[in-house]
Amino acid sequence: MKNSWHALHQKKILETLSSDLNKGLQEDEAIKRYKQYGPNLLSVKKTKSALLRFLSQFNQALVYILLAAIVIKIYLGAYVDASVIFGVVLLNAIIGFIQENKALNALAALSESLVTVSTVLRGGKKQQIDAKKLVVGDIVLLQSGDKVPADMRLLSSRELQIDESALTGESTPVSKTNTILPEDVSLADRTNMLYSSTFVTYGTGTGVVVATGDETEIGHISKLLNDATVLDTPLTRKISKFSHLLLLVILFLATVTFAVGLWHGKSWEELFMASIALSVAMIPEGLPAVMTIILAIGVARMAKRNTIIRHLPAVETLGSTTIICSDKTGTLTRNEMTVQELYCANEKFEISGVGYSPDGEILQENKNYDSGKNRTLLELFKAGVLCNDSRLKKSEKAWSIEGDPTEGALLVCAKKAAIDTDALRADMPRIDAIPFESQYQYMATLHFDKKTNKYIIYVKGSAESITQRCSTVLDINGEPVPLDENDIFMQVESMAKKGLRVLAFARLVIEHKITLEHEHISHNLEFIGLQGMIDPPREEAIISIEACKTAGIDVKMITGDHAITATAIARKMGLIHSAQKDESSVVITGNALNNLQEKEMLEASKNASVFARVTPEQKLRIVEALQRNNEIIAMTGDGVNDAPALRRADIGIAMGITGTEVAKEAADMVLTDDNFASIEAAVEEGRAVLENIIKFIGFILATNLGEGLVIMVAILANVTLPILPVQALWINMTAAVFLGLALAFEPQEPGLMQKPPHPPSAPILRKEMLIRIFLVGTMLLGGSFGLFELALMHGNSLEEARTIAVNVFAVGESFYLLNSRSLRFSIFKLGLFSNLWIWIGIFCMIGASVALTYLPIMNKMFHTAPISLHDWLNIFAVGVLIYVTVAIEKIVRQRYSSI
Ligand code: ADP
Ligand code: MG
Repeated sequence: MKNSWHALHQKKILETLSSDLNKGLQEDEAIKRYKQYGPNLLSVKKTKSALLRFLSQFNQALVYILLAAIVIKIYLGAYVDASVIFGVVLLNAIIGFIQENKALNALAALSESLVTVSTVLRGGKKQQIDAKKLVVGDIVLLQSGDKVPADMRLLSSRELQIDESALTGESTPVSKTNTILPEDVSLADRTNMLYSSTFVTYGTGTGVVVATGDETEIGHISKLLNDATVLDTPLTRKISKFSHLLLLVILFLATVTFAVGLWHGKSWEELFMASIALSVAMIPEGLPAVMTIILAIGVARMAKRNTIIRHLPAVETLGSTTIICSDKTGTLTRNEMTVQELYCANEKFEISGVGYSPDGEILQENKNYDSGKNRTLLELFKAGVLCNDSRLKKSEKAWSIEGDPTEGALLVCAKKAAIDTDALRADMPRIDAIPFESQYQYMATLHFDKKTNKYIIYVKGSAESITQRCSTVLDINGEPVPLDENDIFMQVESMAKKGLRVLAFARLVIEHKITLEHEHISHNLEFIGLQGMIDPPREEAIISIEACKTAGIDVKMITGDHAITATAIARKMGLIHSAQKDESSVVITGNALNNLQEKEMLEASKNASVFARVTPEQKLRIVEALQRNNEIIAMTGDGVNDAPALRRADIGIAMGITGTEVAKEAADMVLTDDNFASIEAAVEEGRAVLENIIKFIGFILATNLGEGLVIMVAILANVTLPILPVQALWINMTAAVFLGLALAFEPQEPGLMQKPPHPPSAPILRKEMLIRIFLVGTMLLGGSFGLFELALMHGNSLEEARTIAVNVFAVGESFYLLNSRSLRFSIFKLGLFSNLWIWIGIFCMIGASVALTYLPIMNKMFHTAPISLHDWLNIFAVGVLIYVTVAIEKIVRQRYSSI
């Protein structure tokens, strides 16, 4: 039974599931089923078990070297050393595991915060619910752009096409219809079934849910669920490559040191220990874990600023973005449409009032107009109300729109003219419809007029697409007369110049009922009139555009709207300078793009700030052209057809509110507020992430270099090692965990958006940073080695001298950490306490150093000994010296160059 829904008659299916085609399930029945069968979710099968992830923490070069050390120590009978090293290896793995887990959980929680909504019929009412809440028997309405939320049997459809690639791997959409199929057709050929996780690419349909959650076909295919969060990105890969290279260098240095030591006549044992100490000292083992954490923190910060990251690499790509291509409507503007001007039967009208509240008047030359005088004006309002999928609602607080604001504005306008919209809909019920799709630029509905017993098609859309389909225009008495296209275009232009979005309306009266097809409205329509609506710019977007400019990021508007409207808005938003009188190269239309050769296309796309009347396919061409200019492109989109462009862009950005599921699925990030300002905020956070990674690397490498130098110099100079392998381990662990990690929480620093983007091809560490690492590394060497030798000269024990050498690192690093908080500025400019983690880290570091120096058990484990206050003062002096030197270096660099 279960698997043969495709072979049953729809009546039988609805009976079996006790559902109703017109009413859906009753609310309480739905709740009952939900309680019984649970949420419509796929249980996540983890790619890697926790144990495996824990074990993979041991799969590091450092761990192998340490294991070798343990073996040697045991062989030498140094059991304490062996167990200390083992303890550190274990601790390292535990810390790494916890950190990775935290990052993974944070990312998973975020991806879950994106809910899929479905339109269902319940208790006779159409409503939007979270797809998790769907139960078997629910009647679901689907339209292009939706994700199929569960397995369904199709009940009715209209040109429905489904992309089943998630299930079958086949990317050409398949048509689906309600037919009865033989029992034995295979899954792929069940054209009356819709499967969970596939997408509607075209048309509309209604289906009844037959399976949810793990019971769905996709739930049976476990391998598809393995796309759990991945933590690697181009940058982490670059870093791990760098680490491998570093490892080779370190091994080479270790070998050389070993050879020189032999030549000096040192013992094998000592040299082994020295080589291991050298490797341990120089390998930056904290690097990968901290990078993941920095990325995860970036993702969390972006979420707070209304951006949800779907693919981790986007975080760092954002920091390198050079061009943002943004939608106009809703992203740059508020998408709060208000009709302000009307045109029909050679007459012009203004509408007063703002927002969605239907308080306002129809005016002509500032005087109230009795709309009964112009029959076509009534028809214009009627068309606006009927050819419309939105609803106007009044709550206690305010009026609001359900559906597309462009359409909602038409309802508000009709209400201002005292049209009874409910009565109108009752008198002229809708029989059929062709929904709005960007590429056609129009929408049509078929109605039955109960008064005249005739059928009437209303069409609305862009002025160009409507006018070309009309042969006549209605005059003031509502009679068709020959149409003058130029007259209409003049009116459109005058509205568009003011930044109004213009919709044109037309109709066709027919005698018989038909199923509405595009060809029915291809010609002979009667032109009714125009409605021009204002869509105010988002103030915050204007500020963000300015911020992007200062940051060396070019912002381009891409819109389906009219070129003149788009230009007027672009001017208001500062996308086009008022000085730029010549608009020909700054504004380009989709049609003009089509006529360009490849090379001209590159040039044109580079120069243009506004792309108008652009279809989704052209969006893809624009992205490709810009990328060929070596730009890093962030591109927004919301429709089904935007998916290819979103995938192609370096960062695809989908709209969280108005976006389709298809667009969200294709995107790297989703804007929860559809606001351009959030893109700019995300870029800012992306840049901060990149900087924090650079800061951390700069910090940790200086430590590693310093330690490595101390050991190498000791062997080359044939003197006693100032730092033992366990001590090197201690320094590395504490530096990464207590100090370096605090840099991950560093807030973005001033001037972040005053610099050009960081090119992804550029090296992570620039010359300036390398110099700083070298500077600090050598100072640590000098301080540690110097104080070590000094202590021995003054008759201190070897243990005491080594404790001093180790503490030079602890203190020196703490001071250097303060420098590392910014690449450019001193901590005083940043605010001493703007990152409290820094101080918590330093505090922990002091505690750890005191314990290492004075606790007998630590003395035993790490071969340390208590030291005097005087020694501490010397150590402290080294720290201050490091801080002051780097601070001066920063000032000098600020003066003479820029970093
Ligand atoms: P954008 O969202 O970039 O402003 P669209 O692709 O949504 O552009 O719209 C392009 C054109 O299609 C608009 O200028 C308008 O004339 C027309 N249009 C927009 N929405 C509708 C709709 N709901 N019904 C009919 N026509 C529409
Ligand atoms: Mg739109």
